[in-house]
Amino acid sequence: MTPLTDQIRRRIAAEGPITLAEYMRICLLDPAHGYYATRDPFGAAGDFVTAPEISQMFGELIGLALAQSWLDQGSPSPFTLAEAGPGRGTLMADILRATRVVPGFHAAMRIVLIEASPKLRNAQAEKLADYTPAWTDKIDDLPRRPLWFVANEFFDALPIRQFHRHGDGWAEVMVALDDPGLRLALAAPLPLPELAHRLPDTRDGDIVELCPAARPVAATIGQRIATYGGAALLIDYGGWRSLGDTFQALTAHEPVDPLAAPGLADLTAHVDFEPIALAAAPAVASGLTPQGAFLERLGIAARAEALARRLSGTARDSHLAAYRRLTLPEEMGTLFQILALTPPGASPVPGMNDPRPSAP
Ligand code: SAH
Repeated sequence: MTPLTDQIRRRIAAEGPITLAEYMRICLLDPAHGYYATRDPFGAAGDFVTAPEISQMFGELIGLALAQSWLDQGSPSPFTLAEAGPGRGTLMADILRATRVVPGFHAAMRIVLIEASPKLRNAQAEKLADYTPAWTDKIDDLPRRPLWFVANEFFDALPIRQFHRHGDGWAEVMVALDDPGLRLALAAPLPLPELAHRLPDTRDGDIVELCPAARPVAATIGQRIATYGGAALLIDYGGWRSLGDTFQALTAHEPVDPLAAPGLADLTAHVDFEPIALAAAPAVASGLTPQGAFLERLGIAARAEALARRLSGTARDSHLAAYRRLTLPEEMGTLFQILALTPPGASPVPGMNDPRPSAP
């Protein structure tokens, strides 16, 4: 039981069961007791480890891919360099270090960080003390000018709703009162226009998820990029379309019951890239590209070797282990996927697959 268990129980007692999305929003972002609002969850001592925290090579190669895309579009100045959910600021710091060698890039960039957690904003300010980022928690605040955008493990933290198929209707998974804690319960099935497109590819009893908050974020980024130029790299675990229950809670690197300790565990769900790609139109969506393939095409093997030459002993071993962890299919190489957005007619972002052929 946590302070949020009581708070959520009181709310359900007064208003009835809440959606998983509302539950996730409270657990992650409640200003007093929310997970991101109160802690730094990253790294070996925390609850999970993300790619930028594994090796500097991740951010360096992403930085160079973004800078190449900026050069390919004629080096517009000024432009926004934005990251959503920057965590400790490590990815942005590595992007900035790698792009120092790109003539004009730093002079033209205006850094914007989209971050809801005051605690993590402080960590980012410290890490990026040599720069002058601006912060916002509203994607709509992104300036109306060219935008190069990155997000790693941001969309997986956005609240999802979950539905079980019953005939041609959908029963929503709700969080309800238990004695003494919380439990999952199914609402009565209803027809749902937002899920009409899933009737042909699902059967009775199948579970699908919707992430309502992802759509406006994707729409704003896509609108800025299609109108003013730029590119986005959206990196997350997931696939084109969800099927099945992907809602999960992690504490100290282990899966736990998502309802057991609200506010103390990280809550995520796999990211569905199809609705993101659709919402970002008229920006052009690349084909979904596995993280391992993307990093290999950008030359991570050569970079890993160059760094290894300067290391010895356990430092060298852990550097090479980090390279494998980022790229191998059985590690993060295929679990994590990347979607790029570019303006119609612009060069693709280096390392990314071509757009999916459109449906006939
Ligand atoms: N990109 C980082 C951190 C990923 S964790 C990394 O790869 O290490 C998710 C990040 O998104 C955290 O910084 C969290 O505070 C932020 N976040 C979660 N929900 C958010 C929201 N609705 N608006 C803005 N930031 C959010």
